[in-house]
Amino acid sequence: MAEPEAPVLYERRGPIAVVSLNRPEFRNAQNSAMTYALDAAYHRAAMDDSVAVIVLRGRGEHFSAGHDIGSPGRDVDVSYPRVTMWPDHVGKPGVESRLNRESEVYLELVRRWRDLPKPTIAMVHGACVAGALMLAWACDLIIASEDAFFSDPVLRMGAPGVEYFAHPFQMRPRFAKEFLFLGERIDAARALELGMVNRVVPRAALEAETMAIAERIAAMPRMALTLTKKAINFAEDEMGLRAAMDHAFALHQLGHASSAETSGSAIMGATPESMKKGTR
Ligand code: ZN
Repeated sequence: MAEPEAPVLYERRGPIAVVSLNRPEFRNAQNSAMTYALDAAYHRAAMDDSVAVIVLRGRGEHFSAGHDIGSPGRDVDVSYPRVTMWPDHVGKPGVESRLNRESEVYLELVRRWRDLPKPTIAMVHGACVAGALMLAWACDLIIASEDAFFSDPVLRMGAPGVEYFAHPFQMRPRFAKEFLFLGERIDAARALELGMVNRVVPRAALEAETMAIAERIAAMPRMALTLTKKAINFAEDEMGLRAAMDHAFALHQLGHASSAETSGSAIMGATPESMKKGTR
């Protein structure tokens, strides 16, 4: 299967920037090329004064299957120009390599997207699994279609869930444990019940509903939206999100190290197929 030309597409619809994950042949599995392209798209939208709201979506049948652990375009060993101060991971040994890489692409970049000073909306259909949760959670609103499903099966790689560890804030801690211990899929209705998504709409109405909400937000005063977003993100951090995430990220690195030490693979030899097994 051929790689699409650009792993992320950028489109303007009036005051709304629509950013599309564009590896539909691979269920929008996120390789580093996609991550950096997404960062560039968000940066472009942030800098463009005519953009008021950003919508993130996935092309094809799914929002995203998570981080790329098995497509031909997997590029974990490729150097990209760094966006944060974390040095290149390529050529570094073991834990240092993973720490450098994951600190940049899975933690600091996602935090930076979460703090983008304009409203962002994730429009989610189909799979929203593992690394895809990070993209959706970093958005301000999540509008899901009835067919959307969510899971974080990363525990079976030996680590306590995805790197951007917002689980106990996206749902109550007891449910976060169940979500992680079982690694099973929850459907959109359950996600709504848990408070993880804002609205669930029929698949056929997903785009129209999301764009209508985006347009209503876009009509609000720009700076007040930024101030409101900052106020809520700050409150979340004061409730412990940032510190809890730093702590979990260290444990995540410990999990990878243990998996590497005991199984020879930092993700316990996980493949897209093995990760699907046992999940419902
Ligand atoms: Zn990891």
